[in-house]
Amino acid sequence: MRKVHGNDSFQRINYLYQISKCMAGKNAGLSSYYGNLIINVAKKNVLKIHPDIKRLVCKKCRCTFVDGVSAKMQLKTNNKRKLMQWRCNTCGTIKSFLLDKDKEQLWLERPEAVVEVIA
Ligand SMILES: [Zn+2]
Repeated sequence: MRKVHGNDSFQRINYLYQISKCMAGKNAGLSSYYGNLIINVAKKNVLKIHPDIKRLVCKKCRCTFVDGVSAKMQLKTNNKRKLMQWRCNTCGTIKSFLLDKDKEQLWLERPEAVVEVIA
C-alpha cells in the first residue's frame, strides 16, 4: 500500500460530503455550508476533489445534489450529443456533463479513465 499525500483531508472531505448529502432536502443552508467546507478543505490542501463528489456539488450555492430532493437530473440530447443535466433546486443553477455517444456514460466512468487505485 502506498501512502498518499493528504489522506486525512480526503477522509474529511468524504465525511463532509456524507453530512452534506444527508442535509440536502432537509436544510439547504447546512448542506451548502458543508459543501463549502469540502471546497475549502480541498483548496487549502491543494487536493483534487473526487469527480463523483465534485459533480454533485452545486457550483453556485454549493449544495449537494440528490436527484428528486435537492436537484433534478435530466438526460438531454443537444446536437446529437447526450448531456446529463443537473438543476439545483436551491438556486436554479444548471450543471451539465457530456455523456459518451452510445453508452450514456461519462468519460470518467470508462475503464481507461482509472490510472491507479490507491488504498
Ligand atoms: Zn445551487
